[in-house]
Amino acid sequence: MFLDRDGVINVDFGYVGTWDRFIFVPGAVEAIKVLNDLGYRVIVVTNQSGIARGYFNKAAFATITARMLSTMGEQGARVDAVYGCPHLLTSGGPACNCRKPAPGMILAGIADYEVSAVDSVLVGDKSSDIEAAKAAGIGRSVLVAPHSQSCEALQAAADQVVPTLAAFAASETTRFSWGDHPPKATSQV
Ligand SMILES: [Mg+2]
Ligand SMILES: [Zn+2]
Repeated sequence: MFLDRDGVINVDFGYVGTWDRFIFVPGAVEAIKVLNDLGYRVIVVTNQSGIARGYFNKAAFATITARMLSTMGEQGARVDAVYGCPHLLTSGGPACNCRKPAPGMILAGIADYEVSAVDSVLVGDKSSDIEAAKAAGIGRSVLVAPHSQSCEALQAAADQVVPTLAAFAASETTRFSWGDHPPKATSQV
């Protein structure tokens, strides 16, 4: 299970570089716990161009990540890994392979945790998330669209559209309770 961060786990205020601006989306931590209990490994893949733009630095990102993980842990939710892209595309400069829609962070997670891409799921809130999932060969892409007026083409590109991560986790619980086999923790993200 690959999760985008801003707009999925925490409220996307734009360039969240300090803990006081990191506000969990209601139900997101509980949703991750549900996904843990269903057997999913959870890997966060997040574009953080605020680093390249000089709004905050890698140390600040690491601090937020540590506090995010410890706060989740206190509530019984587990994220296995966090991949962040600190880069920004500059005109004329070379593109990194990790800034979504490039698939680099997802491919790194697939390699590092030896998971099957086609059996994996990605949940994100932007077209770049859905495009990155497809480029990495992820089997199922889920769009978080809290406002139903979000772009029709984007909704069509995703395999599933949900208002929140919590709604997605609830739908997974229902799916498995109706007889699908839960994922094996060792092989599926
Ligand atoms: Mg996002
Ligand atoms: Zn990058």
